Amino acid sequence: MATFGFIGLGNMGAPMAANLVKAGHRVAGFDLVPGAIEALSTKGGQAVLSVAEAAGANDIVITMLPAGPQVRAVYLEHGGVLASARRGALLIDCSTIDVETARAVAAAAKRAGFDMLDAPVSGGTAGAEAASLTFMVGGEAEVFARAQPLLAAMGRTIVHAGPAGNGQAAKICNNMMLGVSMIAVCEAFALAERLGLDAQTLFDISSKSSGQCWALTSYCPVPGPVPASPANRGYAPGFTAAMMLKDLRLAQQAAGATATATPLGAAAANLYQLSVDAGADSLDFSSIFRLIRKPQGKI
Ligand code: NAD
Repeated sequence: MATFGFIGLGNMGAPMAANLVKAGHRVAGFDLVPGAIEALSTKGGQAVLSVAEAAGANDIVITMLPAGPQVRAVYLEHGGVLASARRGALLIDCSTIDVETARAVAAAAKRAGFDMLDAPVSGGTAGAEAASLTFMVGGEAEVFARAQPLLAAMGRTIVHAGPAGNGQAAKICNNMMLGVSMIAVCEAFALAERLGLDAQTLFDISSKSSGQCWALTSYCPVPGPVPASPANRGYAPGFTAAMMLKDLRLAQQAAGATATATPLGAAAANLYQLSVDAGADSLDFSSIFRLIRKPQGKI
């Protein structure tokens, strides 16, 4: 059994922390929302009232926060994780944030004498509930080896992506591929419809041809061909368009910082912005099919 401080008990953090409890660990949870702390204590966790308390007396500190500014604040501010964690504590940030912040916070942790990993996840809330998340981990190999069995209580696939920040790099590169390929699949189905080609027929052909990709075969954005896809339940998420937009913006930020040409990534970010502006923010990201099929219409 290890002792964990868990900071950020939202949609993802709450089930992840609960899975650590289920695996027999002691988990002290903190969130700005008191109800989130209480919910963890009903599942066997320990309620604490500050970042300092969550970080202070535990072997491992995990954070699952909205974005870079919250991660900077929680680690670096007065009363934050670096000021409060005990000697030898292992720090793991599972939030999806920009690579620059991940590297800056990891460097500050190292200067303060702590081992730190960036370990963003994919798999969504369903993966968090089922302890089947994929962790993409950046940091030193020995530190990764220490963390791997602990992360296994929350995930099924745990991959070392290289030094600090590379977990975030893997996450945003993957999600840029996904955002672009989802739009490509939507455009193909919209064109097929106008050409009088039935969606199921296109699916049957393309899923066995060179157009095959995950957005088509596992997450088809039109109702019918893939019964489990969000298109069959009114685009209830899944992974929201707002989250996809966040990750595409992070990819664009990284592309700008490294002078990398990502014209399709940029176009995808713009289209997701339009989709969110049209009201799709809390719908699944595959709902962008509605915008592409009917660009002038409200979705
Ligand atoms: P969320 O908004 O539901 O949860 C974030 C929690 O952090 C909230 O409960 C909030 O109160 C808390 N918080 C914010 N600032 C805090 C602070 N200073 N101290 C303590 N708690 C604080 O978000 P989420 O859906 O759980 O996502 C968390 C992270 O995981 C994000 O970076 C997101 O991009 C990433 N992610 C989410 C999904 C998903 O499907 N929801 C999938 C993969 C990755």
